[in-house]
Amino acid sequence: MADLVLFWHRRDLRLGDNVGLAAARDRTPQVVGLFCLDPGILQGDAVAPARVAYMVGCLAALGDRYAKAGGQLLILQGDPRQKIPALAQAVGADAIYWNRDVEPYSRQRDTDVAAALKDAGIEFHTKFWDQLLHAPGEVRTGAGDPYTVYTPFWRNWIKHDKAEPLPLPEGLKSLSARQLEAAKKAGCIDLPSAADLGFTWENGFPIEPGEQAALERLTDFCEDDRAIATYDEQRNFPFVDGTSRLSAALKFGAVGIRTLWAAADAAYGRCRSDETRDNVQTWQQELAWREFYQHVMYFFPGLADGPYRSPLKDFPWVNNEDQFAAWCEGRTGYPIVDAAMRQLNETGWMHNRCRMIVASFLTKDLIINWQWGEKYFMQRLVDGDLSANNGGWQWSASSGMDPKPLRIFNPASQAQKYDGEAEYIRQWVPELRSVDTGPLVTGKISPGDRGDYPAPIVDHKTQQALFKDKYKAQKG
Ligand SMILES: Cc1cc2nc3c(=O)[nH]c(=O)nc-3n(C[C@H](O)[C@H](O)[C@H](O)COP(=O)(O)OP(=O)(O)OC[C@H]3O[C@@H](n4cnc5c(N)ncnc54)[C@H](O)[C@@H]3O)c2cc1C
Repeated sequence: MADLVLFWHRRDLRLGDNVGLAAARDRTPQVVGLFCLDPGILQGDAVAPARVAYMVGCLAALGDRYAKAGGQLLILQGDPRQKIPALAQAVGADAIYWNRDVEPYSRQRDTDVAAALKDAGIEFHTKFWDQLLHAPGEVRTGAGDPYTVYTPFWRNWIKHDKAEPLPLPEGLKSLSARQLEAAKKAGCIDLPSAADLGFTWENGFPIEPGEQAALERLTDFCEDDRAIATYDEQRNFPFVDGTSRLSAALKFGAVGIRTLWAAADAAYGRCRSDETRDNVQTWQQELAWREFYQHVMYFFPGLADGPYRSPLKDFPWVNNEDQFAAWCEGRTGYPIVDAAMRQLNETGWMHNRCRMIVASFLTKDLIINWQWGEKYFMQRLVDGDLSANNGGWQWSASSGMDPKPLRIFNPASQAQKYDGEAEYIRQWVPELRSVDTGPLVTGKISPGDRGDYPAPIVDHKTQQALFKDKYKAQKG
């Protein structure tokens, strides 16, 4: 009889182009998928309802994909350290396979699960890197160290050959009725809804959950002359649909990174001018940012807990709670900031340009600890991802690895440059729709026009000077 292998899915909620799953399938057709709803994650205080709902949608889609391929997806709920070895024993699994991760929590959990499996005498295979084009350590400086600065990382990263996508596993087999009964006794359940898990989200997603939807979006983005071929020109305008909106799919691995790269590479190959090639390459650079942040999280896990740069350690933040609440709710009196925060609250997603604007505003204008903002983003974002979010916040706060310390965004100049007609502001701050464009982008709205919309809660110039003074004093 063929071996029975359980494949533990985590942030790889797809069948196709999945490194660990393909290795399991090479060993045996009897590969059964498994996902464990881990209270260690779901009961944390930085979980977004949109993210849980998207994940559950991806799991439902994955279950369907397995069924179509002749296999099945099992769902467990509880601590994987106990649940997974118990399930493996109950169904008589010969081995468990899973892909590696970079996050400190996941790495510790995986070490613990591996130890528990070893104790139970169950074989496991965990050497696979799936979510990255290059595993941590594959791209190093001349001295053999991990990179801490993006630009040299990118120059080296792009020179490395990228792996081809892997085929869809075929001819899978599911558990026998007796094994399925044993799996249920070991805690396997039907997939609960997000509401069953305590999360309500009814506002839709920037991309529909699941592998099929992610692949379709990728095809649209890369084949459509408008999207990837004009990415560099369009990506900074939040009112324009100029980015891929694949971030949630990438966070949960609804699409394989090799598939994504192959599509971008093919688009690059189709370009007929240097200008179009530059547009495609800018998108590839964003994918390299994603890898850079995952590599640094792997090598410097302390980033998850606080600032990397010393002037920002023990920084005398003002941390005004009322101002933080105004920022969260989108009522700071700065229209571009408020529009962005309302987009986040209503849709679970925010345009990248606006993520940078609101992060700069929180840290440099309100002088509030960036970690408050980092956590709030994780409580809202459908694509919330420790490495990318922490990287983005540390970059904005000037606390990360980036050597340029005092990057301060002026909200008015940002709005003038990237939302010149105030279309994005009008979309998300409807009470200001009838105000003229000039005051909307500069934020200088007369009390008469403002109505119930708040006056600016701080003065940008004053706060900028205050932040600089504090920074100088801190640097000593
Ligand atoms: C303060 C702050 C917080 C952020 N938090 C997150 C987060 O939690 N999760 C997340 O995926 N991205 C985060 N980003 C990065 C970026 O804003 C989003 O990846 C992007 O807006 C997603 O939209 P898209 O899929 O249309 O991106 P596209 O522009 O189409 O880019 C393609 C992909 O590249 C990756 N990417 C793009 N920009 C970045 C970047 N700067 N850093 C890392 N990866 C990038 C994403 O996976 C994205 O889906 C954050 C940025 C900032 C400034």
